[in-house]
Amino acid sequence: MLEKVLIANRGEIALRVLRACKELEIKTVAVHSSADENLMHVRLADESVCIGPANPTQSYLNAPAIISAMEVTNSTAVHPGYGFLSENADFAEQIEKSGFTFIGPSAETIRFMGDKVSAIELMRKAGVPTVPGSNGPLNDDENRTLTLANDIGYPVIIKAAAGGGGRGMRVVFNEDELLKTIQVTQSEATSFFGNGTVYLEKFLENPRHVEIQVIGDGQGNAIHLGDRDCSLQRRHQKVLEEAPAPNISDEIRNEVARTCVQACKEMNYRGAGTLEFLYQDDRFYFIEMNTRVQVEHPVTEMITDFDIVKEQLRIANGEPLSTQQEKLKFQGHAFECRINAENPTTFLPCPGKVNLFHAPGGPGIRVDSHLYSGYTVPPHYDSLIAKLISYGKSRDQALKRMRIALDEILIDGIDTNINLQKELVRDVNFQEGGVNIHYLEKKLS
Ligand code: ADP
Repeated sequence: MLEKVLIANRGEIALRVLRACKELEIKTVAVHSSADENLMHVRLADESVCIGPANPTQSYLNAPAIISAMEVTNSTAVHPGYGFLSENADFAEQIEKSGFTFIGPSAETIRFMGDKVSAIELMRKAGVPTVPGSNGPLNDDENRTLTLANDIGYPVIIKAAAGGGGRGMRVVFNEDELLKTIQVTQSEATSFFGNGTVYLEKFLENPRHVEIQVIGDGQGNAIHLGDRDCSLQRRHQKVLEEAPAPNISDEIRNEVARTCVQACKEMNYRGAGTLEFLYQDDRFYFIEMNTRVQVEHPVTEMITDFDIVKEQLRIANGEPLSTQQEKLKFQGHAFECRINAENPTTFLPCPGKVNLFHAPGGPGIRVDSHLYSGYTVPPHYDSLIAKLISYGKSRDQALKRMRIALDEILIDGIDTNINLQKELVRDVNFQEGGVNIHYLEKKLS
């Protein structure tokens, strides 16, 4: 087994990785910024190293500092978690070149999937359904572009190949705006991402966000772990997720998952990954692939009884997949509420000292959180402080358990979005299942 894993992340995901390592009896190294020495996983890791000041560019995004920490601690592998350096192909490459193991896909795969144009092209060829569009970058041929948009039908969306985090996209409603908007998106993409390549897609007006979890071992085997619905979003940030996605026929669900597995096999994908889709009128449309573990992976773990993080570690150790598609059972339903330290009306981050933290419990409840009473949430990072996960034999039972857990959880001292979550799990339309990606923003306005 991997001897010693350095966890290049913080907060709940660092703790999640630490727990998986411990279960597999792998030694752990926590790296942290100077603002993070009181993090729960830093206390629990076998060793810890301060890699820089609070500013993430000088610590969690500082590849040389992380590699030095690997050297001094004799770590053999690095788990990047999500965010930070997890989808940075240059980092993965440096890790491999330094003789360490990057727990994730190859640098080449990360780079390839980081370019949405090449990702979509690969998926389309493997039979994964994609959004009707330019099937490649837009070029200087204005007549071709105008004809293309007309054929597809307005509205269309112009997207940066290197885009991410909901940036570098613009919707075009009619022909008059098309060429101008392409120019603006190109120059924005150049300044944001250092790559001005843009492409065009049909703009779907009322889609849901449904994604498929996959895992491959880089030895020709790949499986899917079903789907998740993450349509409840605010400013492209997911707020509440569930698995499986409700009100989709098994036939449609299984067919798209099958194509995802096919794509993973064709590229000999190694590690955990997620193919993100828009879903509208009973159809799936691929938009991008994330080559890392996702925040919302626990809902999948609950309905499959399969540990995604442990599997990442085993695969990085060179082992083949520990299960086969036919052996996996999808049972029950799970929800995840993201608890953020934020002002309930302005949504601005609300760091500060947590005087009291009480975690809910009972059947089917899981809490992934680094919080403890007396912990101070620093102001420098993402505001996610806890993930509250509920499981039930039915969707209804899982939802009931989530309501009870939200009533039990206590975080005193800072503002959180718990009340919003309480409202959402009682929302009539959400209870019905299948609201679209605009639902939450409309509800909030
Ligand atoms: P990013 O990498 O920045 O997250 P995505 O390609 O995943 O970019 O798109 C982010 C969001 O933008 C989607 O979740 C969806 O809300 C919206 N979006 C992207 N493409 C389309 C499309 N073709 N039609 C409608 N909405 C879209």
